[in-house]
Amino acid sequence: MPQLRPERVTRGLPVLNINISHCAARTLVLGPFVRSAVWVQGCPFACKNCMSPEMREFGAGRVLSCGELAGLLLGFGGEGVTFSGGEPFAQAGAAARVIGLVREKADYGAIVYSGYTLEELSARAERDAGVAALLGAADILIDGPYREELDDGRPYRGSSNQRILPLTGRYEAVLDAYYRAPHGRRAEISLGPGRVTLTGVPSAEMFEAWKKMRASKGVFAQSAPRPRGS
Ligand code: SF4
Repeated sequence: MPQLRPERVTRGLPVLNINISHCAARTLVLGPFVRSAVWVQGCPFACKNCMSPEMREFGAGRVLSCGELAGLLLGFGGEGVTFSGGEPFAQAGAAARVIGLVREKADYGAIVYSGYTLEELSARAERDAGVAALLGAADILIDGPYREELDDGRPYRGSSNQRILPLTGRYEAVLDAYYRAPHGRRAEISLGPGRVTLTGVPSAEMFEAWKKMRASKGVFAQSAPRPRGS
């Protein structure tokens, strides 16, 4: 799989900042309980038929300080936050810092999607303190790249090679009920001024419906509520 080198494109980004595409205040489809979500901007992978190609380019999103993003997440409330993207581990130190700042004020759970496998991340963590910090902060890791040929329609991840891996016991009591529920894929589409937002891992039908809605409104990039003041 072709990979860029995230350390090249993120070099120069102040360490206390994070580059995000957008965030959502409340969702039920990116982990147990009501939670907020952050889509980081930039991904070194090039999965075939990635559903978020606009989030792959490094530096194309908005830069917030980690403190600003932590404040937003605290304001959103909910049980916790899910990091998706883009590739959260391309900005691992910043994402870990955001989670740490939030947890100074509230007991938030953290779920992280990544195109890297746990084994790859564990190896990187030995030489990258940011990766170690984000791995240490995550309660659940959903790992591995999207592989279209392994897309089995199961909810909450894109293809069967991706694993839902509890890294702490925080969600133990609800893990099976949520992730192994017999229903199909669930996603949320919301409309706002000039934007049509898709949250979650959609079925093919829902993805097509979202693209049609987006085109009919003249919106060509996935969008979501932006951080206040941005
Ligand atoms: S890891 Fe995710 S965002 Fe990156 S190319 Fe693959 S599907 Fe797209």
